[in-house]
Amino acid sequence: MFRRISQFCKQLFDDSQTSKNQEIETLDSGLSLEIVPRDSHSISRRQISENALKVLYRLHKSGYKAYLVGGGVRDLLLGLEPKDFDVVTDATPEDIKKLFRNCRLVGRRFRLAHIVFGRDIIEVATFRGHHSHGNDKTSKANASGRLLRDNVYGSIDEDAERRDFTVNALYYDISDFSIRSYGGGLQDLKSGTLRLIGDPETRYREDPVRMLRAVRFATKLNMQIDASAAAPIRKLAHLLSDIPSARMYEEALKLFFAGKGEANFEMMQEYGLFQPLFPLLHSCIKENPKDPAARMIQMVMANTDARVNQDKPVTPAFFYAALLWYPLRTRAEEIALESGLPLYDACFAAMGDILEDQCRSISIPRRFTAPARDIWQMQLRFERSQNPRAFKLMESPKFRAAYDLLQLRGEAEGGAVAKNAHWWKNFVQADEATRTVIAKSGPKAGGRKRNRNPRRRKRSDSSNGSAAE
Ligand code: ATP
Ligand code: MG
Repeated sequence: MFRRISQFCKQLFDDSQTSKNQEIETLDSGLSLEIVPRDSHSISRRQISENALKVLYRLHKSGYKAYLVGGGVRDLLLGLEPKDFDVVTDATPEDIKKLFRNCRLVGRRFRLAHIVFGRDIIEVATFRGHHSHGNDKTSKANASGRLLRDNVYGSIDEDAERRDFTVNALYYDISDFSIRSYGGGLQDLKSGTLRLIGDPETRYREDPVRMLRAVRFATKLNMQIDASAAAPIRKLAHLLSDIPSARMYEEALKLFFAGKGEANFEMMQEYGLFQPLFPLLHSCIKENPKDPAARMIQMVMANTDARVNQDKPVTPAFFYAALLWYPLRTRAEEIALESGLPLYDACFAAMGDILEDQCRSISIPRRFTAPARDIWQMQLRFERSQNPRAFKLMESPKFRAAYDLLQLRGEAEGGAVAKNAHWWKNFVQADEATRTVIAKSGPKAGGRKRNRNPRRRKRSDSSNGSAAE
């Protein structure tokens, strides 16, 4: 993909910008502005969604300024299919509401208009301006500089200053089909550089999620984070712990469910950004980088990427159940030791704890935590379900996901778990008649006695054995 992008860029810039010597002006703010006319860039209206065009035209015909902005313009220039089209205008949310019957006003931190076309939503924002100090109603920051409200309206030039990266400060003007590029966005697109607009530390403090966006765009677009944008990330990574967990859930979806999860995980580790999102997992792998939890993370990320890239369905229920399995095991062992509960029961108690802890940073909706619990419970039942229970277990709606997790655990841990995973694989892959034979001769057929007292149980290290042994 990288080659395709760079070839495309080369063609784009060789054919157009560089040959026509565009004027670049410097605004009072210090930000540069380059305007590229229609005949000098590659974006055509045919590439823009019909609904986005409808919105742009209606605003324009009603006397407002209207631009396609951000990722949509960036991706079109790179020859990629934009995920969504965002529109920006000088009409206020109230003006927009009057123009479109299918308009919904949303957002508190950023007040936005959503124009709804069935399942397609075009987001329309009003140009953002500078913060007027002291006006709590429109703009507000907390002690670390994070913006809690950002509803001051301004001009397009001011709006550009509020964008995150220069490659996202690109505007396609519906009035004359030109592109406005601020802060050298087009040049950065050409060289594959992610550069923040303004002072990086201030911009990360205003919104720490920009650090995650830097990683996401670097892997998605195969770009380099500019040295000045990369430098403060390690120091400021902890600020992510302050971000509301519901927003973090959305960001995690973009990071891990778009086919670049493994690359994002690795880069997040490099910058210390994984810890604030997954503190439980971080402590597992920090103490022992060879912990099966580390292998599990890598396998889950790689599997999820492979599924996304093959257009197969993925679910946060499996993703979080698999990632959090080892922290769950560790917590269950602690509870068992403290309380004397059998490990099997301690595991049930630990499920609530682990989910509660994880949801402090990433609030996983209940519709996914409930099936994640089922997937965990089935891990315990796999240990104890030989004939005839094995047949019953297979009928459970969560069997497939739970079985997949067992296979991953087998690979991560080896030993007894790998043996059990292997037994289940044989069982699942066999025909009905062979299954009956396998079920009778399972590794634990005849039933191995469960050691109910964990104090007497030889304490295996957390990398081996199973929670229900
Ligand atoms: P993608 O949709 O591919 O994830 P995008 O750049 O379009 O990437 P969006 O989240 O759709 O990202 O945002 C649209 C635009 O809004 C961005 O291109 C950027 O200009 C601006 N933007 C979004 N989030 C921020 C932020 N946290 N800080 C500053 N500007 C932002
Ligand atoms: Mg977008």
